[in-house]
Amino acid sequence: MAMRLHKHKTFKTGGIHPHDNKLSAQVAITPLPLPKMVTIPIIQHIGAPAKIVVNRGDMVKTGQIIATHEGFVSSNIHASVSGRVGVIEEVMDSTGFKHMAITIRVKGDDWEETIDRSDTLIEEIKLTPKEIVSRIMEAGVVGMGGAAFPSHVKLSVPEGKHVDHLLINGVECEPYLTADHRVMLEKPKEIIVGIKILMKALGVQKTIIGIEYNKADAIEIFQQLLKNEKHIGVEALEVQYPQGGEKQLIQALLNREVPSGGLPADVGVIVHNVGTTFAVYEAVQKNKPLLERVVTVTGKSVKQPSNFLVRIGTPVIDLLIAAGGVPEDTGKIVSGGPMMGKAIADLDVPVAKGTSGILLIPKDEASRSETYNCVHCGKCIEACPMGLEPYRLLIMSKKGNSQRAKEEHILDCIECGSCSFVCPSNRPILDYIRLGKTQLKKQKSV
Ligand code: SF4
Ligand code: SF4
Repeated sequence: MAMRLHKHKTFKTGGIHPHDNKLSAQVAITPLPLPKMVTIPIIQHIGAPAKIVVNRGDMVKTGQIIATHEGFVSSNIHASVSGRVGVIEEVMDSTGFKHMAITIRVKGDDWEETIDRSDTLIEEIKLTPKEIVSRIMEAGVVGMGGAAFPSHVKLSVPEGKHVDHLLINGVECEPYLTADHRVMLEKPKEIIVGIKILMKALGVQKTIIGIEYNKADAIEIFQQLLKNEKHIGVEALEVQYPQGGEKQLIQALLNREVPSGGLPADVGVIVHNVGTTFAVYEAVQKNKPLLERVVTVTGKSVKQPSNFLVRIGTPVIDLLIAAGGVPEDTGKIVSGGPMMGKAIADLDVPVAKGTSGILLIPKDEASRSETYNCVHCGKCIEACPMGLEPYRLLIMSKKGNSQRAKEEHILDCIECGSCSFVCPSNRPILDYIRLGKTQLKKQKSV
């Protein structure tokens, strides 16, 4: 851990300090062997599902497009393996929802010839800003920090907005997860080229990479590589959850406040995650679509906590077997981290573009503690990084009073779980807030 010579920057409102448990931080990325079959959902992103363009029985190559984006806020989907297309049907994904998915039975590993699979670093950026955005869209790149927002949309700054800063999110504040950390350690030069690509696309002159100080090795690598770069800096941040939230990162690094209901572009900022920035490098310089990603497999009882390079659509069970199997004391398996992740019920659910980790929680930590009445201690208010009153949002959502909750800015909740984490009465605050938000969405759609 880095020696703290001065107080690091951080966000000002709320926040908590869960144990970081980064068990796999020192474990290098290893490619997972090819699965026998992949199941690739046609929606792995925010926006419209992609339109399927293959049929059962078709032979496809790795990197071939199998579903095209429908409209601007959508994303292309590519074959992550070569082989024969099998059934196309609804399957349960890692968020617990059913979506159409394309199965491919693996045969060999035959890639599209246009993809550069060499390790050669390509620094010269030949494409124009417009061509860059189009290449990123073609490659199906989405935010890989969890939100899976199509990256080409983020790069298309709305008219009338002026962006002066690009922020690169290397925070990875979720306990246990180390995928971004490993990508920073193992692909820093590629990430720097990815940053220059994004800067060219956006026309910005200034970038800051934000990394929490518990990743001192990554901070040092970037400081060394960027010592002669005037326009790209790296900043060590306080270890405080949820430092990786876009609004929190902007507050910490630039002291700017994104307004309620607003976007980072409203305050002149675009934020991209480090994993996404690496995918941008591969898309633009190597013509490689987003067809694989790094996934952390971890947990206190896991035999070999690992960081695997995984083809999209690989069943979760394959990752668990490679990490030493499912320990007997496992009580819950979560896609993502312990704070924002979602429990998965079926081990055949496929890895998606937004799957950053698989966490195995032991039985004694997985069972819900008894809940008690609210004691009005105010701890949830103190912890909320969005300045909300979580206990009130719980009451409104429970009563089905979602309009009132909307007036109290329930839609600003970033679902970080800090309120539930600190509540001495173990009240399921976030569960009810999610319910309230779902009620609002339903009302909007009728
Ligand atoms: S989950 Fe929502 S309400 Fe709770 S602390 Fe996070 S932002 Fe605030
Ligand atoms: S932290 Fe829990 S007990 Fe305290 S005010 Fe919030 S809901 Fe009530």
